[in-house]
Amino acid sequence: MSVTVRVPAKVNVQLAVGAARPDGFHDLANVFLAVGLYDEVTATPSPGGPRVTCSGPDADQVPLDRTNLAARAAEALAARYGRTPDVHLHIAKDIPVAGGMAGGSADGAAALLACDALWQTGASRPELLEICAELGSDVPFSMVGGAALGTGRGEMLTELEVGGTFHWVFALADGGLSTPAVFREFDRLTEGTDVPEPVASPELLTALAKGDAHALAATLVNDLQPAALSLRPSLADTLAAGTAAGALAALVSGSGPTTAFLCESAAAAEKVAETLSASGTCRSVRVTAGPVPGATVL
Ligand code: ATP
Repeated sequence: MSVTVRVPAKVNVQLAVGAARPDGFHDLANVFLAVGLYDEVTATPSPGGPRVTCSGPDADQVPLDRTNLAARAAEALAARYGRTPDVHLHIAKDIPVAGGMAGGSADGAAALLACDALWQTGASRPELLEICAELGSDVPFSMVGGAALGTGRGEMLTELEVGGTFHWVFALADGGLSTPAVFREFDRLTEGTDVPEPVASPELLTALAKGDAHALAATLVNDLQPAALSLRPSLADTLAAGTAAGALAALVSGSGPTTAFLCESAAAAEKVAETLSASGTCRSVRVTAGPVPGATVL
């Protein structure tokens, strides 16, 4: 018997970053939107686990040892229920690796839900979300999906109403960017400046609630973007190419290097994708929409 869970990627429509805290983390106001790029994690009983395998275009960049967030999720759930994590986890990976779209976090949430179904632990939703928060700041959102505001270091979630579907193009870049390295660059760039407290933008929350793409485009903001651009200056060309192609707005997704383009309609997104593809400023492009549900047993 095996259980397969499908889990979406995310884009941060607002990522407000506060000054580094004494523990090195940053307070965030993080508005997540789940979008339709998916990984699938299949859990199958297997003695001596957790064992991890991975397929997909970026599979060679995914660690298969116990640092993989899927393996860590299985171990955390097994430890809590006093059982051995005898499971094989296969990740069919379509979310770019180290792309700023929370692919690892997605696999953590998916593995947790898959093992929970396989082992029939009877864990409650709040218990599963507590384990998610221990695994990483972005993991609870991968479980919940839709749209949500994350505060604290991003893991305290408030679900948000969204009044429509938003159409996106994502431009994938060659190679990844390390999230800790991007935060270090943020610290370097903001050293000696007064970094304001991160707060969710009321205008942005209203735009989401109304499903108004033009209003959302006017309010998209990512405080990590200057740091990502400083580490990867070529992303400026990708952003410019997407804007010139007719996107309503362009921004770096999370810590990058994936770039995100909000479009007026599905047809507009197809057109932007075509132009971006031909521009030679990115590795590949994907057209999708959000919000979509979080981790789901298939
Ligand atoms: P975020 O948007 O949450 O900052 P990201 O999308 O930039 O994350 P991930 O794809 O989650 O980045 O990968 C970051 C690193 O995590 C990888 O380089 C890899 O070493 C490690 N990692 C651990 N587990 C996984 C996993 N299941 N899939 C991908 N990477 C993983």
